[in-house]
Amino acid sequence: MRKPSPNIPARSRLARALVAAAVFINGVAFTAPAQAQQNSVPVVRDAEIEALVRDYARPIFKAAGIANGGVNIILVNDQRFNAFVAGRRMFINTGALLQSETPNEIIGVIAHEAGHIAGGHQERLREQLARAQTMAIVAGLLGVGATIAGAATKSGGLAQAGSGIALGATEMARRGLLGYQRTEEATADRSALEYLEATGQSAKGMLTTFARFASALSLSGTKVDPYQVSHPMPRDRIANLQTLAQRSPHFDKKDPEGLQIRHDMMRAKIAVYTQGQAAASRLLRKDPRGLAMMYGDAIATYLYGNPKSALQKADALIKAHPKNPYFRELRGDILIKANKPAEAAQAYASAVKLDPAKSGILQVAYGQALLAIGKPDAVQKAVTEIRKGLDRDRENISAYRYLAQAYGQLGEVGEAELAAAEGYFYSGVYHDAKVFAARAQQKLKRGSPAWVRAQDIINYKAPGKKK
Ligand SMILES: [Zn+2]
Repeated sequence: MRKPSPNIPARSRLARALVAAAVFINGVAFTAPAQAQQNSVPVVRDAEIEALVRDYARPIFKAAGIANGGVNIILVNDQRFNAFVAGRRMFINTGALLQSETPNEIIGVIAHEAGHIAGGHQERLREQLARAQTMAIVAGLLGVGATIAGAATKSGGLAQAGSGIALGATEMARRGLLGYQRTEEATADRSALEYLEATGQSAKGMLTTFARFASALSLSGTKVDPYQVSHPMPRDRIANLQTLAQRSPHFDKKDPEGLQIRHDMMRAKIAVYTQGQAAASRLLRKDPRGLAMMYGDAIATYLYGNPKSALQKADALIKAHPKNPYFRELRGDILIKANKPAEAAQAYASAVKLDPAKSGILQVAYGQALLAIGKPDAVQKAVTEIRKGLDRDRENISAYRYLAQAYGQLGEVGEAELAAAEGYFYSGVYHDAKVFAARAQQKLKRGSPAWVRAQDIINYKAPGKKK
C-alpha cells in the first residue's frame, strides 16, 4: 500500500496524501487546494489487493455477462463493510475485506452486486458513477462524508428518486444508495446463486455475510455498515436464501488453498496498515506460523521497526516464494525507506517482471525509485516507466507528481506542467488543471500529442459545473 500512516482516520490520511502531492516546478510549489481534499474518496492503492479482488470478480462477471473489458478496483479506506459496482469500477471498502474470513464471503457479495447490475437496479446512480471521470466527482455522487446513519431514518428511497433532478447530485445519490427494494434484493440473490453455480462455487460465504448483517442488533448503533443500509436483510430473505443455497452440489465446497492464502495475506496487510501488528496477530490466531503471519510481521517491521530487520524478513519471504511480486515490492519499499534507491529500483524491477496482473502501481513505484537515484539516465528511465504505469492506470494521481518532478529535472518544463495539469485534472481541481495546461501549451509544440492533451484539459467541462 502506498502512503502508510496507520492509526489515522481515513480523512486525515487522505488529506496527507494530497498535501504530499505538492509539485515543484521551476522552484514554485503548488499543492492541491482544500477543495480537493474535502471532496475525494479516501482511496487506497495496492497492487496485491487490487489483483486479488479482480481475480475474485472476473469469473463472476463473466457468468453474469457483464465482463466487457477489465474491471477497475477502487479500494476505499473505510473500516465499515461496503461493496458496490458502477460501470467498470468496483468499489470495495478495506473493512469488507478485513471482515471476510474467506474469499468465498467476498465473492458472494460480488455475485450479489453483479446481480443488481444485470437486473438494471439503480441504473441512474450507476450511470452517473460510471461517467464520473475523477474520484472527486465520484465522492460527490456517493455523498462521502454524509452520515449514513442519519440518512437511514429518512429512507424515502427510490420513491423520491423521481424528483431527483431537482435535488443535488449528492442528495440524490444518497437516497439512491439507500434504495434497493425487496424485490430487487430477491432478484439479485437469485442471480448471485446462478453465477456461483455457473462458476462452481458455494453460496455459503454470501449467506454467512448476509446472516451476520441480519442478526446485527439494529441499524441505530454507532457503527453502521453502509452495505447493510443499502441492502435490507430481513430474516425471511436470509431463510429463503439458505434453502436455495443448500440445494447446490457446491454448497460445502471450499475455496482453493492458494486463494485462501492470498486472502489471508491481504487481510494481514490491511490489518497491519490500518490497526497495527496486534490486529494481524488477532486475525490469524489460528495460523500463527503461517505465511500470512510472516508477511504481516515483515510489513509491521517495515512500518514500525528497523529497516535491517525488515529486510531480513522480506528476504526470507522471497527465498521461500521467489515468484511472488509483492514480496519484491515490500523489499523495494523497505529499501526506499532506508534511502537505498538503486537497490530499491532493482527490487521493484523484479516485482514488475513477476507481476501477472501487470499493475501500473508497481511500475510507478519502480519509476519513483529511479527518480530518487537522481542521475540523468535514471531520471530518463523513470519517465519511461512512470508513463508505462500511467498507460495502464490513468487515475494514479501521485504518479503525475513524480512524472512532473522527473520532467522538471530533465528541463522539459512544458511536459512537467502538463503532468501537473493531469494531476490536478484527476484530482477534480479543474481550474488549476486548466491554468497548468495553458502554461504547458506555451512551451509545447503546437499540434503535438502533449499540446493536444493540454487543449483537451482546457476544453473540459466538469459535469454539473459551469467552469
Ligand atoms: Zn442487494
